Amino acid sequence: MSARPIVTAATRLLAILGEPVAHSLSPVLHNAALQALHLDGVYVALSCSAADCPGLLRGVAQAGGGGNVTLPHKEIAARTIERPSALVKRTGACNTYWLEKGQICGDNTDVEGFQRAVQSAFGDLAGAHVLVLGAGGAARAVLAALADARAARVSLLARTPARAEQLAFILAGSATRIQPAVAGASDPVDLVVNATPLGLHDHDPEPFPLDRLRPGTLVFDLVYHPQETAWVRAARAAGLRAADGKEMLLQQAAASFRRWWRCDPPIDVMRETLDSTRRG
Ligand code: NAP
Repeated sequence: MSARPIVTAATRLLAILGEPVAHSLSPVLHNAALQALHLDGVYVALSCSAADCPGLLRGVAQAGGGGNVTLPHKEIAARTIERPSALVKRTGACNTYWLEKGQICGDNTDVEGFQRAVQSAFGDLAGAHVLVLGAGGAARAVLAALADARAARVSLLARTPARAEQLAFILAGSATRIQPAVAGASDPVDLVVNATPLGLHDHDPEPFPLDRLRPGTLVFDLVYHPQETAWVRAARAAGLRAADGKEMLLQQAAASFRRWWRCDPPIDVMRETLDSTRRG
């Protein structure tokens, strides 16, 4: 008896575009979900430069596919798609694309992913002072989510201060105030969020020195790693409550899946797949 081919001429292609993408767990998560629901699709990771990203995105979408966009191309993707969602317009960043009625649509499911993950880890953030590290595509989603959560204040610490200044518009009209943070200053915060790629690689320095945080500060690392990130492990060892990017990855993936397939993903299958990948 011959096995049913996994990929046929009718298979729908979904692709995550970024640089680097080799670390991405999105293919593992989405292919597990597609198999569980017997959907005829395949999800791959395509490494591409900023110059090649728009062409690849358009090509995959015009072929009836879709996918995700990861670092550092989310702002390029926002400029490439034809029908941006309200969240893409609000953040200037797009992490999910697909074709609908001949037009390339885009959304930013990182906002929902961060909202759900931070809420389940730490609860309500209304009134909180949050230190955000980084000013790239992911930081844009974090700022929108913090405004919706009615955080009182965001301090933004960015390697390139000019890039941070460009993000203030995301909080316009909200009750959340934004200010640049100065490296070395010790203004107490309730939550610190790493939205830089520091921690992706084993020998990266920590995104922020934990000994500068007061007891009780919450630590959220957007970075995920097959094991927990070194920063999250160190934060817990120092007695702080900390969460890595795993739950956000799951929640943004689930929201993207709904855009592409118009049905709910098997989130338990995705969570189990992620956990077994982490167990190695
Ligand atoms: P991005 O657009 O490339 O932005 C990265 C930001 O980090 C930029 O502000 C960059 O500064 C800064 N940065 C880069 N290297 C740095 C370093 N060595 N020291 C200090 N700052 C540095 O990337 P992104 O899309 O925002 O993603 C950031 C991280 O979040 C990635 O690790 C990504 O995997 C993770 N993420 C996770 C999830 C999830 O679901 N868990 C979702 C989204 C993103 P410059 O402006 O100076 O380059």
